[in-house]
Amino acid sequence: MSVTVIRKASWVVRWEGGKHVYGRELDVAFDNSGILHLGAAWQGIADLEVDGRNRLIMPGLVNIHCHSGDEPLAKGLFDDTGTPQLWGNALYEFSTLIDSDADAKAACQILMLSELLASGVTSCLDIAGDHPRWIGIAAESGLRVWFAPGFRQARWRLTEAKALDYDWDEAAGETARDEALSVLDRVAVDGSCRLTGVVAPSQIDTCHPDFLVRALDEARSRKLRLTVHAAQTMAEVTELYRRHGKGPVPLLQEIGVLGPDVILGHGICLDHHPLTRARTAKDLETLAATGTNIAHCPVTFARSGQGMESLGQYLRAGVNVGIGTDTIPFNMLEEMREAIIQSRCRSGDFADINTAEVFHAATVRGAQALGRSDLGRLFPGAAADVVSVDLTAPSMRPVHDPLRSLIYAGAERAVRDVWVAGRHVLDNGKPVGLDTAGALAEIDAAKARAIRVAENTKGCSFNAIAPRCLEMPA
Ligand SMILES: [Zn+2]
Repeated sequence: MSVTVIRKASWVVRWEGGKHVYGRELDVAFDNSGILHLGAAWQGIADLEVDGRNRLIMPGLVNIHCHSGDEPLAKGLFDDTGTPQLWGNALYEFSTLIDSDADAKAACQILMLSELLASGVTSCLDIAGDHPRWIGIAAESGLRVWFAPGFRQARWRLTEAKALDYDWDEAAGETARDEALSVLDRVAVDGSCRLTGVVAPSQIDTCHPDFLVRALDEARSRKLRLTVHAAQTMAEVTELYRRHGKGPVPLLQEIGVLGPDVILGHGICLDHHPLTRARTAKDLETLAATGTNIAHCPVTFARSGQGMESLGQYLRAGVNVGIGTDTIPFNMLEEMREAIIQSRCRSGDFADINTAEVFHAATVRGAQALGRSDLGRLFPGAAADVVSVDLTAPSMRPVHDPLRSLIYAGAERAVRDVWVAGRHVLDNGKPVGLDTAGALAEIDAAKARAIRVAENTKGCSFNAIAPRCLEMPA
């Protein structure tokens, strides 16, 4: 493959001495095998030369938790809605109302990947349901995608009193697990080396312990990661106490489903979190000792008034925490900003976290969770996953510290170009391999179909389920 050289990049985030550091006026040369050179003028072959003046060159961001399946359809629906009896979370009563058909899933996936690319993401772990185009769209996007087809033994149901209950169907769970594993087998034969499978029992509360143990066995026999939502809400924690007399982390520790190859989705309601009213504070120590990873997605939880207590505390305890976007918006830079703000607000301390630590989480820590020491950092020999940020964008200026400009002010408006494995996949803000316009043309009709299904389920208009934020007088 041809060699691309970014000439005289004004700022470069390079990896040196085990940390990200700034470099100035550097050439960055790469091809599909990885970064070839990062330093003074590159003297080798240059098939394509890119002007690096007024650009920040940084490693691609690693998103370890997102959902392409239905989530783009949920935009604007439940942002002001929650179930008071379930700590205000909208997940169990409302989010489950929106289900996408296969056509909608394809459009949703294209829109998610387009947004992720535009916010500098080059690797993502997509927890979703299989559909005929799932693997194909990911391959065409050019991103590195970890496919996590979810499966579970129970579905959530609310009682009349709005308590969380479960409809168990173990046989359906086995079938769904086997179908998920067959997706992973299909991913494994892809020749691009950019697509990887992940074993994904959906939630700790919708799977029996032995089912989780079996899932981890399947992951380890395939040398894949396992991800599961755990400690994501108080409703879940309360149910686990009722069933097992313990919270999510002690339960997972007891059955052996923790470790460096396990990624817990969210990990918010641990035993030191004030909402749990637990009398212990051991979960962070357990997660650190076992090397278990947490996928931190602050934006969606902050919307319902919830949050991790606090990111800085997790990191100081030695827990590996990466960043994910979960649901809309699929904006990794906004997620990073919120991670900082939430950590400071929850701890009441500006010094709880800093920008470099969150950038490290969104790159190197995420790569660690995925078991990839060649991602999330730029050095000769690393993967050529490269992001170029326009320092002349109004939202970035004036530039004193380009990462701070990007995370606190510029966000995705300043991301111009992205390369993954040396391939140009975002060109001047536009995804190269995705039909974003086509997906946008389909998404309104897909949303209308999903809303009709929700209205039929509830027997009332959607506005009665989740009113718009402003009244609409006749
Ligand atoms: Zn999730």
